[in-house]
Amino acid sequence: MYNPKSTKAEEFISHKEVLETIDYAEKNKNNIELIDSILEKAREKKGLTHLEASVLLACEVPEKIDEIYTLANEIKQDFYGNRIVLFAPLYLSNYCVNGCVYCPYHKQNTNIPRKKLTQEEIRNEVIALQDMGHKRLAIETGEDPVNNPIEYVLESIKTIYGIKHKNGSIRRVNVNIAATTVENYKKLHEAGIGTYILFQETYNKESYETLHPTGPKHNYAYHTEAMDRAMQGGIDDVGLGVLFGLESYRYEFAAILMHAEHLEAVYGVGPHTISIPRIKKADDIDPESFDNGIDDEIFAKIVACIRIATPYTGMIISTRESEECRKKLLHLGISQISGGSKTSVGGYFNPMPEDENSAQFDVSDRRPLDEVIKWLMEMDYVPSFCTACYRAGRTGDRFMEVCKQQQIKNFCHPNAIITLKEYLEDYASEDTKNIGNNLIKKELNTLDNKTIKETVIEDLEKIEKGERDFRF
Ligand code: SAM
Repeated sequence: MYNPKSTKAEEFISHKEVLETIDYAEKNKNNIELIDSILEKAREKKGLTHLEASVLLACEVPEKIDEIYTLANEIKQDFYGNRIVLFAPLYLSNYCVNGCVYCPYHKQNTNIPRKKLTQEEIRNEVIALQDMGHKRLAIETGEDPVNNPIEYVLESIKTIYGIKHKNGSIRRVNVNIAATTVENYKKLHEAGIGTYILFQETYNKESYETLHPTGPKHNYAYHTEAMDRAMQGGIDDVGLGVLFGLESYRYEFAAILMHAEHLEAVYGVGPHTISIPRIKKADDIDPESFDNGIDDEIFAKIVACIRIATPYTGMIISTRESEECRKKLLHLGISQISGGSKTSVGGYFNPMPEDENSAQFDVSDRRPLDEVIKWLMEMDYVPSFCTACYRAGRTGDRFMEVCKQQQIKNFCHPNAIITLKEYLEDYASEDTKNIGNNLIKKELNTLDNKTIKETVIEDLEKIEKGERDFRF
């Protein structure tokens, strides 16, 4: 029985409800009257239900698809402006006891060298990341209670926050580790993490169990209810995601929106972010062996429809995707990207030849961070290293409130400008710095609140003189 208020996985992600949604969407994919009425509701910019959004995703009418893209772009502009938040993943350990068939870290894979960073090695990685200019990390580990216990993760977070190198500091550590207990989520919360991220991989229970044949991750309910436990443990920024390619994309699309609706219904706050990874080639993994691959066109439609359905939720795309693909998706709704990423354990301090390393999967966008920053600015995006909201306690429902009132521009835009200036002063190449300083001049004109504008100008001058870490 479908019930978004239930905390039982099979009730808030009801298989029957997903199938009925897909069926309804398929039957109405050319129903112009219905599509128009959904688009009209979507123009209020308060989101759509999984059923409504699924109709838009199924829609095959070219003019209506154009309207979907235009609206997604408009919502992106209204809520996120031209800012793109930057982060990098940091792989701490690839020890893993699970048998996930799409992931090279699976226990049976004896090809890849297993590695777990010591605290000293974490220091080296973090300094290398700080020297690139990163302020925000997502830490990743395989699931292994013996090699990667929660104490190791907590100690690593403490190490990361404690490293002050030159003008660098990591100001927000997001965490992507396996589903765990309320107790452990409490500990992560107390350690001051940003978002807790966990990809569902697939919402289809039967496929999930086949794709995760062994290990603790096999338990569908435990994995799917992880965000509930995270919320109960005090973490109010959670990040959802599915690994596109494993199951039918329409199934995942309807289900991830149901998951968002469930969090909103029970905890009063939807997900902070949605990630949309696609399965990639990796050691021992051939993406062709999964039947549900999606092409760039459908991928773009998924991004646009998620943007319309959940205007208040940030959307993340990683370096799994190519420069070309990322460019296309930026204006359809993506608000965060990774840059200069390494998916191997220890890969920032000590990059290894591709065939020898322990990379999780192939990275398509291999450009250094400076190039990514320059590229964004040449397209008139403002790269942001901002971490202010979470540091000012604007998380969970408090952040959503600010976002719903389209107020994030009063905080986020000044903060983006200030943190970009820090990046330009401390890490950018000459070329990037020139482009950036010109962009900042232009962006100052978009600040219509006089007091805010004056404060930003003062902060920019102080940054040039060597002061750091200003925020609204
Ligand atoms: N071990 C943690 C867990 O169980 O959730 C998460 C860390 S894992 C390093 C991060 C994510 O990488 C996984 O959740 C999965 O979606 C993704 N991933 C695994 N294999 C992949 C592949 N071949 N291509 C693209 N992404 C992959």
